[in-house]
Amino acid sequence: MAELFQQLEKTSGRLEKTSIISDFISDTPVDLMPTVLLFLRGRVFPLWSEKELGMGDKLMIKVLSNITGASEIHVEDKIREKGDIGFAAEELLVNKTQTTLFTEELTVEKVHSNLTKLAELSGKKSRERKIGYISELLSMTKPLESRYVVRLVLEELRLGVGEGTVRDAIASVFNVDASLLERARSLRCDLGEVAKIARQEGDEGLRRVSMKPGRPIEVMLAQKAESIEDVLGKITPAAFEIKYDGARLQIHKMGDNIELFTRRLEKVTKQFPEIVSAARDNIKASTAIVEGELVAIQSKVDRNPRPFQDLSKRIRRKYRINDLVEQIPVEVNLFDIVLYEERELLGERFDDRRKLLEKIINKTDSFRLSEYLVTSNLKEADEFYQKAIKMGHEGVMVKNPGAPYQPGSRVGYMYKIKQVMETLDLAVVGATWGEGRRAHWMSSFLLALRDEDTGEFLSVGRMATGLTDKQFKEVTSLLKPLVVVESGKEIGIKPKVVLEVAYDEIQKSQTYESGYALRFPRLVRIRYDKGIKDVNTLSRLKDLITSH
Ligand code: AMP
Repeated sequence: MAELFQQLEKTSGRLEKTSIISDFISDTPVDLMPTVLLFLRGRVFPLWSEKELGMGDKLMIKVLSNITGASEIHVEDKIREKGDIGFAAEELLVNKTQTTLFTEELTVEKVHSNLTKLAELSGKKSRERKIGYISELLSMTKPLESRYVVRLVLEELRLGVGEGTVRDAIASVFNVDASLLERARSLRCDLGEVAKIARQEGDEGLRRVSMKPGRPIEVMLAQKAESIEDVLGKITPAAFEIKYDGARLQIHKMGDNIELFTRRLEKVTKQFPEIVSAARDNIKASTAIVEGELVAIQSKVDRNPRPFQDLSKRIRRKYRINDLVEQIPVEVNLFDIVLYEERELLGERFDDRRKLLEKIINKTDSFRLSEYLVTSNLKEADEFYQKAIKMGHEGVMVKNPGAPYQPGSRVGYMYKIKQVMETLDLAVVGATWGEGRRAHWMSSFLLALRDEDTGEFLSVGRMATGLTDKQFKEVTSLLKPLVVVESGKEIGIKPKVVLEVAYDEIQKSQTYESGYALRFPRLVRIRYDKGIKDVNTLSRLKDLITSH
């Protein structure tokens, strides 16, 4: 497996990667398939699993120091020198002293079993025992294996193997229909499980795969539309709904048992006890999967939405949850249903699904249905949009009333129209060196605006997306001559390069010098035509917030 990883790391073409993976999995024993496929994607557990490794760099450095006898400082130096903890481990462990005379061969099962035990640890001494499990693995590894075990444990494998690549490999090895495989995958969200079915039962087996309450499915995604007019040109009549600014929530009801999942399939049942009990009491079905948007609100009386970061606090909080239930109240706005008792509803029309949803949901103050209007009238639709914006929402969703539910796809059954945020021209004042494939590029850029009173540049966010490989290279070469300090991976840069940046929202923040943070900043273009005098000012930013 380590050799496979090495081969994949060296290869950049997707087709080549697919064929390397195909060769490998055609020889993989069926029982190992789930683990092998997870490892290939750099994961130890499926996305929806609650198991977490929770291993940080610090703990790993301690383990490496324990095993090799090198000081922690030496280990850190080695990591800096190599630019990657996996390479560092590989080199450090070349000379490890063998503790036993006959060292057992490391197997995939052994790695999986130790990491599963590690993820199940809790309470006192769990730190020591964690160290024990990892140390045991690393005492068995050959140098190349060390590289990947360390990265896997830190969830930083970075082989550049996408889900699509693995899926294509499975389809070709087991000679099954790629679209059946994809359908089964989107309903089970576990390629390993689905690969096993493909291998043992072929297309027939894949066709039989259905939803499993308690296991999240991939959600249907929205496309972007520029205007109401534009979307009414594609769909008439269309169903308009408010686009609530929160997190997508899948609610699974199995009798009294409720499970909650986010769009990224993360299980968040524990974090939202009030939603669990609302779902238990107000979904009139013994089995159902419904979907909605979870929103943090000011209070039960003032239902105005709070910024996303408050909701995110609740999603992240795993302990002492009840304190936050009071501090940050939430509500759900339901908008779809995909399973009702034994009936899979994916193939049914959206307006029929909505009707059913209305019938089986007992509405309460915090367990609501999304606002919904079916119209082909531009004026009516526009009023709906204006109302949504005035209420402080992001925009509207527009759905095709006649469309089925297509998990995991952006197929044009659902559009989003958001209020357009003006872009900002910002200076780059810092950056971070990338890792792995991107080790020679700067990969995350610290952006700043100008304080017009003092002339200082104040940071307002970090941007790592929206750039093509070519643009990463281009920006790196522009910034290299402007480096003023470097410490580890962090680089300070003299403001000169101006980037035009789009973002979703401006939030108050303690993290950046300006006191604000851009949410999801992304590159629109490099502004060769602009100098630092053209960088947007703090007061411009404040204007944008008030006008929003
Ligand atoms: P975006 O995340 O910008 O691609 O927009 C799509 C997201 O909007 C969905 O994944 C939902 O989380 C969210 N959303 C908010 N309100 C609705 C709604 N009424 N119907 C569907 N999705 C919604």
